[in-house]
Amino acid sequence: MEFFPITLQKVETVAERTHAFYFSKPEGYTFLAGQYAMLRIPVERLVEPDIRSGMRPLSIASAPSETALVFVMREGVTGFKKTMWDLKVGDVISVGSPLGHATIPEGDMRPIAILSGGVGMAPARAMLLEAVAKHDPKKYALFASNRYLTDIPFHNEISKIVLPDFTYVFTLSAETEPASLQGEERGRITADMIEKHLPEWKESLYYVIGAPAFADAMKALLLGIGIEEKDIHIDPFAGLTGPGVAAQASK
Ligand SMILES: Cc1cc2nc3c(=O)[nH]c(=O)nc-3n(C[C@H](O)[C@H](O)[C@H](O)COP(=O)(O)OP(=O)(O)OC[C@H]3O[C@@H](n4cnc5c(N)ncnc54)[C@H](O)[C@@H]3O)c2cc1C
Repeated sequence: MEFFPITLQKVETVAERTHAFYFSKPEGYTFLAGQYAMLRIPVERLVEPDIRSGMRPLSIASAPSETALVFVMREGVTGFKKTMWDLKVGDVISVGSPLGHATIPEGDMRPIAILSGGVGMAPARAMLLEAVAKHDPKKYALFASNRYLTDIPFHNEISKIVLPDFTYVFTLSAETEPASLQGEERGRITADMIEKHLPEWKESLYYVIGAPAFADAMKALLLGIGIEEKDIHIDPFAGLTGPGVAAQASK
């Protein structure tokens, strides 16, 4: 795989213990919203040894139309994550060629339903901002599952997205206060929730984005309500495991 140098431009906190890393985009680096790429930190830059030699697959959170390449991750315990948290503006790491097929087909006017768990908001952001840039007239619905409001990456930015037909539903699985905001729900994503907020649920194209257990649960849910497998796109976030993720996966 070919790798390209990228320079850190800025870091933003986009949710609790969650950073968005903005990098320069290499000249000629083209990708589609929904794809991911390998990030590689030079071994000599690692602040401590890493279980996977400083490499991770990460969804591209920026739309192709943006000038920066953006990646999002929760704080972690590995040499990779600790080094990401240690990076300074101007530091150079590298990115591999774009990968993955969970992209939105050109010219297909079926409604798009995105089911995202936790940092699954990364490719969801890319898809939605690309739809804005392309003035896409078709329907988009995003169902985002997180424990608390403060855990939702890019919540404010996504809330302000203007598309001809966009529904944003965010469900908080650990919140005990009653839901009060538009699109706010409680508990896990359910079939009832999808049918309530997306009248076109039967004819929609589905994108499931999150940790493997979340992806499995959502796939089973969609198959259970009669969505055909060919209409469900999944790139599970393999490797996203552990205690912090167990709760998210079960949402
Ligand atoms: C297609 C694809 C897209 C992805 N997109 C994203 C994305 O956009 N954002 C994202 O954050 N991730 C994404 N991932 C997952 C990502 O590649 C990492 O696997 C994930 O973020 C976990 O990172 P980490 O391995 O550094 O572990 P950490 O986040 O540091 O740790 C995760 C858990 O692993 C356990 N663990 C790890 N190392 C040790 C150790 N040495 N000892 C004990 N326990 C340990 C801990 O329980 C910890 O809670 C994606 C994966 C794929 C395949």
